[in-house]
Amino acid sequence: MQRIGIALDIDGVLIRGKKVLPQAIRAIEKIKKNKVPFILLTNGGGMAEANKAQELSDKLGSEIKPYQMILAHTPMAPLAANYSHNDSDAVLILGKDTCRDVAFEYGFKHPILSEEILAACPEVWPFRAPSDKYSPVEINRRVGAILSFHDSLDWGRDIQIRQKAGDNYCNDSNRKQLPVYFSNGDLVWSNNLSLTRLAQGSFRNALENGLSGGRKLQRTMFGKPCKSTYDFAKNAIDRHATELYGFNPGSLEKRLYFGVGDNPESDIEGANRAGWASVLVKTGVYESGSHNATALVEDVEEAGVLVAKKDYNLPKHNEVDVPNLHVIKALQSLESRGLVHVQFSWQYYYYFLNDAGIEYLRKFLHLPVEIVPRTHIKTAKAPGVRPGREERPRGERRDGGDGYRRRDDGEKKEGASGDFRPEFRGGIGRGGPRPTQA
Ligand SMILES: [Mg+2]
Repeated sequence: MQRIGIALDIDGVLIRGKKVLPQAIRAIEKIKKNKVPFILLTNGGGMAEANKAQELSDKLGSEIKPYQMILAHTPMAPLAANYSHNDSDAVLILGKDTCRDVAFEYGFKHPILSEEILAACPEVWPFRAPSDKYSPVEINRRVGAILSFHDSLDWGRDIQIRQKAGDNYCNDSNRKQLPVYFSNGDLVWSNNLSLTRLAQGSFRNALENGLSGGRKLQRTMFGKPCKSTYDFAKNAIDRHATELYGFNPGSLEKRLYFGVGDNPESDIEGANRAGWASVLVKTGVYESGSHNATALVEDVEEAGVLVAKKDYNLPKHNEVDVPNLHVIKALQSLESRGLVHVQFSWQYYYYFLNDAGIEYLRKFLHLPVEIVPRTHIKTAKAPGVRPGREERPRGERRDGGDGYRRRDDGEKKEGASGDFRPEFRGGIGRGGPRPTQA
């Protein structure tokens, strides 16, 4: 029974552009082989979880269940309970048309689109004729909230509708404050254009600035790095654990959760805020510079750790054929010289080998420079590939530096528990000559 759980980011971790990273396929295989509960956690969205899970299952060649797929708007699903009692309850869904289908799936009784309001009341945004594709919304339907599932398709229209939204959208006599929920706070994203694109966080700023009379937007944020999203993800991991083991091991012993991602601003920040271990990979937007991740690794396959139980009397380590005490003492020695990072949690030591540690082992073992850890062999990037909007959802910014940066104060990092089959992924000395790049 594994007492760890893993949340894997998608773009930049499992997939780059349109291509699945071979390390990702191997990593998923190992995770499944070791029966480690895991989920996929992305700031992308605009589609049903089942569809995205199927898409990833096809790409990875390994089944991902819909509940293992946490999109930016997935944690907003429980909000449906607040807007499904009254027949007149409606919520305005911002995003493409598929977002309304997703809202129906979540149980919202009357999700409506901006275009339906425009069809009923063209004066709200008179600069573009309403499309025949949309039926006018019932004029007296009350809007209870605005949910931004994806980027607004027309900022001006949606800001104007927000200004009008009250007891009904065509009557501005009662402009009451409506709660607005955002599925992520990223300020920009990138596509094939050389200029960065404004994302949902920028729309939120515009919406706030558009409020008259100094009113403040009553807003709630979801998506990485918000803790609410990590709480939701934690439940999904526990559900997977229940499925794997037939009961919830988390109910017996605490679990150590790992967040693996390529974006320090969302993946690492979010995992740290939630009290998880954060693992930053180099296969995505992160290139170099400061970060506050628990560990920095080459890729998702290397995100594994060596684990040793704090039991000095175990005759043999779980994976290495020496007494457990020898493993612990050897790693203590490496830690004292700054060659590994150690995290202790619930009677288990988790060891991450850093670059200095690799170099040290190379010299200690007299290995030539052409021998490198298998996981440090970089996969050649496809020339000229700059993922487009479809391939790089929110939060997966190529520039990586302008995601949602607001920080919550007072949220402390905390430990949890876990165990793991000890293994240095691609440790020095196990590899042969460096193969040609894939
Ligand atoms: Mg990413």
